[in-house]
Amino acid sequence: MVVSNQHPDNGHKVYRQDIWWSDKWDPKEYGKEYDFSRPFFTQFAELFQDIPLPSLNVEYTTMVNSEYCNGAATLKNCYLCFRADHGEDCAYLTSITYMKDCFDQTFSDRSELSYFSSKLLNCYQCFYSYNCDNCQDVWFSRDLIGCSNCIGCIGLRNKKYHIFNKPVTKEEFGDTLKKFDFGSYKNTENFKKEVKEFMLKFPRKEYYGKNAINSSGDYLYNVKNVLNSFIVSDGENCKFVQFIKPPVRNSMDYTMFGMNGEWIYESAWVGLTVNTIKFGVWDYGAHHLEYSFGCHSSGNLFGCVGIRGGEYCILNKQYSKEEYEALVPKIIKHMNDMPYRDARGREYRYGEMFPVELSPWAYNESLADEWFPSSKEDALAKGFSWRDPDKKEYQDATVNIPDHSKDVGDDILNGILKCVSCGKNYLLIRIELDFYRRFNVPIPRKCPSCRTRERLDEFNPIKLYSRKCAKCGKDIQTSYAPERPEIVYCEQCYQNEVA
Ligand SMILES: [Zn+2]
Ligand SMILES: [Zn+2]
Repeated sequence: MVVSNQHPDNGHKVYRQDIWWSDKWDPKEYGKEYDFSRPFFTQFAELFQDIPLPSLNVEYTTMVNSEYCNGAATLKNCYLCFRADHGEDCAYLTSITYMKDCFDQTFSDRSELSYFSSKLLNCYQCFYSYNCDNCQDVWFSRDLIGCSNCIGCIGLRNKKYHIFNKPVTKEEFGDTLKKFDFGSYKNTENFKKEVKEFMLKFPRKEYYGKNAINSSGDYLYNVKNVLNSFIVSDGENCKFVQFIKPPVRNSMDYTMFGMNGEWIYESAWVGLTVNTIKFGVWDYGAHHLEYSFGCHSSGNLFGCVGIRGGEYCILNKQYSKEEYEALVPKIIKHMNDMPYRDARGREYRYGEMFPVELSPWAYNESLADEWFPSSKEDALAKGFSWRDPDKKEYQDATVNIPDHSKDVGDDILNGILKCVSCGKNYLLIRIELDFYRRFNVPIPRKCPSCRTRERLDEFNPIKLYSRKCAKCGKDIQTSYAPERPEIVYCEQCYQNEVA
């Protein structure tokens, strides 16, 4: 038995990762001659279905005691971490790098001993906080830089001992933390609501990030000419790119994950020094690929699956450089002359991404559902597939969770818990229980997915709206929808007032 992100019913054969990455099988043995009597995507779909996929997509040689993680590398003693690189003694993290002793984090980097937060950078002991940089001992705060010992604060720079943006003494701070007693679930949930109300009185910048020159989007850091893009650092000349680790250049319609990507178009999950990739999915360290899935350290491939260290292949069949260069233009012409028609009658020619019906993952198993949540009906109507949850995973809880973490016994580690939001079962692991007790935070009532959902809801959407700066009236493009209650300033006005 292996743990896999491929559902047993999706029709794909799965190999253990060490076998998939070994020479014990040869993806070129599945190679097919191109058939000009049938559409390209029909032929690609057959090849894709034949070829084994790895059980998970992790750098398995760098993982220690972190079996239930995916999209990951260099993790030690981690549990349910995804899109994670360099983590130790952590659980429930998504899209993170260099984290230690952290739980429930989204898009955080280089932080320690922190809980239920997003977009932390170089933080230590931060709880229920968003978009904080170089902070320590911060609770329920947002947009802080260089702050410590703050509760319920927003938009502060280099401040210590503040509660609701007002200075307090060290003693008052300690007394307040005692009074609020965040070990209680009830207190914590009530306080979250109070903080949300309080923060609406303060202006927000039109976008999160800094040094965004001639750019638009949100969560942009050190970018130039990057348009309509989200969560990008060190980027230049890009449009419609998302979730990119630095650096990235000259790319468009590119989702995940950069780390030196250039000339990438209409591709997802490609990175680690990649160059000139069109319509690629899950390709690392590769160049000059078109319509390729899971091809690594390779170049000049068209319509290939699972090739490692290969060159000049079409549908996994080996050609000489001259043959390859002569055949590819003919196939491109054929793709336009004989388009593929999907089950809903939509046509796919050269220049379109893979038809969505080829995806081994259902819509609700994918990253798309995190940022564009959909009902089953809407997803199916758009031609996506949907996988209903397994009813076995929805048993009654076998333990009750006391309101306060100090009243929780070790027996909870043997119990089955039930999410208050979606009803799915989840459990607690030893290191998280120790963490909750040490920092006096309550036992979560929601499953890890619903907790991630709650944090993602604090992000602005991947969408831009035209509105006016609430201070100077200048036109701005922002991901705060006009009907939202936040006060939104242009960057200039925000800087004049806050920092
Ligand atoms: Zn849930
Ligand atoms: Zn303004």
